[in-house]
Amino acid sequence: ATPTAVMVGTGRAAELGMLISSSEALQTAHRVTTVVLDKTGTITQGRPAVTAIRAVGNRSVDELLALVAAVETGSEHPLAEAVVESARTRGLSIGTATDFSAVPGQGARATVGGHLVQVGNRTMMVAAGIDSAGFGGAGPSADELAADGQTPIFVAIDGEPAGLIGVADPVKEESVAAISQLKALGLEVWMITGDTTRTARAVADRVGIDNVLAEVLPADKAGRVAELQADGAVVAMVGDGINDAPALATADLGIAIGTGTDVAIAASDITLLGGDLRGIVAAIGLSRRTVTTIK
Ligand code: ADP
Ligand code: MG
Repeated sequence: ATPTAVMVGTGRAAELGMLISSSEALQTAHRVTTVVLDKTGTITQGRPAVTAIRAVGNRSVDELLALVAAVETGSEHPLAEAVVESARTRGLSIGTATDFSAVPGQGARATVGGHLVQVGNRTMMVAAGIDSAGFGGAGPSADELAADGQTPIFVAIDGEPAGLIGVADPVKEESVAAISQLKALGLEVWMITGDTTRTARAVADRVGIDNVLAEVLPADKAGRVAELQADGAVVAMVGDGINDAPALATADLGIAIGTGTDVAIAASDITLLGGDLRGIVAAIGLSRRTVTTIK
């Protein structure tokens, strides 16, 4: 590569709202065959909001939400922030949690007012020996929430089913166009997420993604990227979270969402400053043009 051609490329990139860390990144981008997109905060806005709360048993919805918010105050997960925000909006007084522990990719638990409160996905409930059939009652079921692309959060108190909370994270307006443009460039597009298969599938359908890797634990995301590479793919991984950093580093090209975590940005070759996924299309297009110029 001549330095001049690369400089023109990276200068144009800045105009397009992206930062490219090295000339190598631009050299790699035109070879990419497969784009793997994280779901939460990458395809979706990453600003989840509570849509439904169901109390199972004799606690009121407000009592349930106050207990859950006490646990989630200790968690940095975007879903946790949505729950705490919902409790604040309702003016609930949020208690103090002790013995907090996060279960990465599953949820969190703590003691609140003498009660063990466990909050998380179905896997976490199953692991705790709590019957997921015990979460029935009025309002949308976990499966109905998931079929709508929402994330169902299960709540158990003292080892018994206590509630279900639905959280929705709308897709970014540009995601649909970006994904159809990536496919038009002949690229294979995948979604990767720790969320449940049903929720992931519903969101994938909404944005036109055929290939879904769901229920992937944070520690396994990089391994899934490596499997695609072993099958011959040249992978661009796009993500925003701490969770995504190892996968971003493993991919041939790591692309971070500029509104995401610093760890993800540091692990990446390209940063999309505004988080608009059409930047991936621009980066690959730019790379194809730049590399052609060099040849
Ligand atoms: P993602 O890949 O979407 O960022 P994570 O790997 O962080 O997801 O988490 C996977 C799933 O675990 C979430 O979709 C959620 O169901 C559950 N989960 C994780 N942390 C929490 C939490 N603090 N509160 C509730 N649920 C959680
Ligand atoms: Mg994410």
